[in-house]
Amino acid sequence: MRKDDLATVRFMIELYCRGRHKTEKGKLCKDCQELWEYVQFRRSKCPFGDDKPFCSNCRIHCYKPEMREKIKEVMRYSGPRMIFYDPLVAFAHLRETLQRKSREKKMANGKNETKGKTNATGKTEKGEDAK
Ligand SMILES: [Zn+2]
Repeated sequence: MRKDDLATVRFMIELYCRGRHKTEKGKLCKDCQELWEYVQFRRSKCPFGDDKPFCSNCRIHCYKPEMREKIKEVMRYSGPRMIFYDPLVAFAHLRETLQRKSREKKMANGKNETKGKTNATGKTEKGEDAK
Protein backbone atom coordinates (compact mmCIF):
# COMPACT_ATOMS: atom_id res chain seq x y z
CA MET A 1 0.00 0.00 0.00
CA ARG A 2 1.47 3.32 -1.02
CA LYS A 3 1.50 6.48 1.07
CA ASP A 4 -1.35 7.98 -0.93
CA ASP A 5 -3.43 4.91 -0.21
CA LEU A 6 -2.75 5.23 3.48
CA ALA A 7 -3.89 8.87 3.38
CA THR A 8 -7.03 7.71 1.57
CA VAL A 9 -7.69 5.08 4.22
CA ARG A 10 -7.31 7.71 6.94
CA PHE A 11 -9.71 9.95 5.05
CA MET A 12 -12.23 7.14 4.70
CA ILE A 13 -12.05 6.20 8.37
CA GLU A 14 -12.61 9.85 9.34
CA LEU A 15 -15.55 10.09 6.99
CA TYR A 16 -17.03 6.90 8.38
CA CYS A 17 -16.46 7.90 11.99
CA ARG A 18 -17.99 11.34 11.51
CA GLY A 19 -21.03 9.87 9.75
CA ARG A 20 -21.60 6.81 11.89
CA HIS A 21 -20.22 7.74 15.28
CA LYS A 22 -20.90 11.49 15.16
CA THR A 23 -17.29 12.29 15.90
CA GLU A 24 -15.89 15.79 15.34
CA LYS A 25 -14.20 16.53 12.03
CA GLY A 26 -10.55 15.49 12.02
CA LYS A 27 -10.98 13.27 15.09
CA LEU A 28 -11.60 9.56 15.56
CA CYS A 29 -13.53 7.74 18.26
CA LYS A 30 -11.77 5.06 20.30
CA ASP A 31 -12.82 2.20 18.01
CA CYS A 32 -11.85 3.97 14.81
CA GLN A 33 -8.58 5.18 16.29
CA GLU A 34 -7.80 1.56 17.10
CA LEU A 35 -8.61 0.53 13.56
CA TRP A 36 -6.44 3.32 12.12
CA GLU A 37 -3.50 2.35 14.31
CA TYR A 38 -3.97 -1.25 13.29
CA VAL A 39 -3.94 -0.30 9.58
CA GLN A 40 -0.64 1.56 10.03
CA PHE A 41 0.83 -1.24 12.09
CA ARG A 42 -0.09 -3.88 9.50
CA ARG A 43 1.32 -1.74 6.73
CA SER A 44 4.68 -1.48 8.46
CA LYS A 45 4.72 -5.28 8.81
CA CYS A 46 3.52 -6.02 5.29
CA PRO A 47 6.02 -7.96 3.12
CA PHE A 48 4.91 -6.01 0.05
CA GLY A 49 5.87 -2.68 1.57
CA ASP A 50 5.24 0.29 -0.70
CA ASP A 51 4.65 -1.84 -3.78
CA LYS A 52 1.61 -3.42 -2.26
CA PRO A 53 -1.70 -2.90 -4.01
CA PHE A 54 -4.62 -1.50 -2.08
CA CYS A 55 -5.29 -3.77 0.89
CA SER A 56 -8.72 -4.91 -0.29
CA ASN A 57 -7.00 -6.36 -3.37
CA CYS A 58 -4.20 -7.95 -1.43
CA ARG A 59 -4.00 -11.70 -1.74
CA ILE A 60 -2.39 -12.08 1.65
CA HIS A 61 -5.12 -11.30 4.12
CA CYS A 62 -2.94 -9.65 6.69
CA TYR A 63 -5.79 -8.13 8.66
CA LYS A 64 -7.24 -10.25 11.41
CA PRO A 65 -10.91 -11.08 10.71
CA GLU A 66 -12.34 -8.60 13.21
CA MET A 67 -10.36 -5.68 11.73
CA ARG A 68 -11.02 -6.88 8.19
CA GLU A 69 -14.76 -6.65 8.82
CA LYS A 70 -14.32 -3.14 10.23
CA ILE A 71 -12.24 -1.86 7.34
CA LYS A 72 -14.69 -3.42 4.89
CA GLU A 73 -17.53 -1.55 6.57
CA VAL A 74 -15.54 1.68 6.38
CA MET A 75 -14.90 1.13 2.66
CA ARG A 76 -18.55 0.34 2.02
CA TYR A 77 -19.64 3.49 3.81
CA SER A 78 -17.03 5.94 2.60
CA GLY A 79 -16.29 4.62 -0.89
CA PRO A 80 -19.39 6.03 -2.63
CA ARG A 81 -19.18 9.24 -0.56
CA MET A 82 -15.60 10.08 -1.51
CA ILE A 83 -16.70 11.79 -4.71
CA PHE A 84 -18.63 14.48 -2.81
CA TYR A 85 -15.73 15.28 -0.56
CA ASP A 86 -12.99 15.28 -3.15
CA PRO A 87 -14.41 16.86 -6.32
CA LEU A 88 -10.92 17.54 -7.70
CA VAL A 89 -10.14 13.84 -7.70
CA ALA A 90 -13.53 13.13 -9.22
CA PHE A 91 -12.88 15.71 -11.92
CA ALA A 92 -9.48 14.23 -12.72
CA HIS A 93 -11.11 10.82 -13.10
CA LEU A 94 -13.78 12.22 -15.39
CA ARG A 95 -11.21 13.99 -17.58
CA GLU A 96 -9.13 10.86 -17.85
CA THR A 97 -12.17 8.79 -18.75
CA LEU A 98 -13.11 11.22 -21.50
CA GLN A 99 -9.56 11.24 -22.86
CA ARG A 100 -9.44 7.47 -22.82
CA LYS A 101 -12.77 7.24 -24.59
CA SER A 102 -11.65 9.53 -27.42
CA ARG A 103 -8.40 7.55 -27.71
CA GLU A 104 -10.34 4.29 -27.85
CA LYS A 105 -12.61 5.73 -30.52
CA LYS A 106 -9.61 6.64 -32.68
CA MET A 107 -8.08 3.23 -32.11
CA ALA A 108 -11.35 1.49 -32.96
CA ASN A 109 -11.53 3.37 -36.27
CA GLY A 110 -7.96 2.37 -37.09
CA LYS A 111 -8.66 -1.22 -36.16
CA ASN A 112 -11.70 -1.47 -38.42
CA GLU A 113 -9.67 -0.35 -41.43
CA THR A 114 -6.91 -2.82 -40.71
CA LYS A 115 -9.43 -5.58 -40.09
CA GLY A 116 -11.09 -5.00 -43.46
CA LYS A 117 -7.77 -5.17 -45.28
CA THR A 118 -6.75 -8.32 -43.43
CA ASN A 119 -10.02 -10.00 -44.31
CA ALA A 120 -9.66 -9.12 -47.98
CA THR A 121 -6.10 -10.46 -48.06
CA GLY A 122 -7.20 -13.58 -46.24
CA LYS A 123 -9.87 -14.28 -48.84
CA THR A 124 -7.50 -13.78 -51.77
CA GLU A 125 -4.95 -16.09 -50.22
CA LYS A 126 -7.59 -18.71 -49.57
CA GLY A 127 -8.84 -18.45 -53.13
CA GLU A 128 -5.34 -18.91 -54.50
CA ASP A 129 -4.81 -21.90 -52.23
CA ALA A 130 -7.99 -23.49 -53.53
CA LYS A 131 -6.76 -23.22 -57.13
ZN1 LIG B 1 -15.67 5.93 15.00
